[in-house]
Amino acid sequence: MKDMKTAVILFGPPGAGKGTQARRLSSELNCPAISTGDILREAVAAGTDLGKTARGYMESGSLVPDSVVDGIVKERIARADCSLGFILDGYPRTIPQAEFVEGLFAPGELHTVVVSILVRDEVLLDRLSGRRVCPGCRKMFHLRNSPSRAGEQCDECGTRLIQRRDDQEAVVRERLQVYRRETEPLIEYYRSRKVYFEVEGDGSAAGIFESILGVVRARRGTMAGGG
Ligand code: AMP
Repeated sequence: MKDMKTAVILFGPPGAGKGTQARRLSSELNCPAISTGDILREAVAAGTDLGKTARGYMESGSLVPDSVVDGIVKERIARADCSLGFILDGYPRTIPQAEFVEGLFAPGELHTVVVSILVRDEVLLDRLSGRRVCPGCRKMFHLRNSPSRAGEQCDECGTRLIQRRDDQEAVVRERLQVYRRETEPLIEYYRSRKVYFEVEGDGSAAGIFESILGVVRARRGTMAGGG
């Protein structure tokens, strides 16, 4: 039997905890977590052509054009470490992006499981406005809920923590609107393909992780049985 390639798509609004869960899932499932947001932020920081293209969109909270992110994802998932599967965090965000990634594989070659993390808007706003990130190792903190033990520095690697520009309140509101308008229609897209699942995202990161893992394992079990 041909090896099964699994794409776990972590879905949900900004601030739902996709990045945190993608990293945990990556070590548990032993396959890479691909965050288009992280790749774009690195390009912006490095001042590459990609970064110059993406910067304005990102700072205003709008989406970078599909053709740009599609190119990033195509190149990334063609690498050897994705041969058994990969986790997508923050991609696809539009129906054309979903169609693009589907079109990269032969029918039946890719088994997709979409896990949507459900979080109420007021929790999202609080999480994003209090979020601080380490630009060195990418560890995330929250000023109140999970502050760094090293104060304004990362307690893993010592780098000074920053607030993402797009975590400022006005931009967060725009990102939430963009999510409702452009990204939420994907729910129906994946639901109709019977690969869409939801987990409650208000609880502890560890509890949410167990729920996600449960969905992924159950789905893999079904796929192994030919479903
Ligand atoms: P994130 O870290 O996933 O919240 O992404 C931060 C920003 O990067 C978004 O607000 C967009 O401007 C851009 N971005 C990331 N992923 C995508 C995507 N799949 N499509 C379009 N823009 C994206």
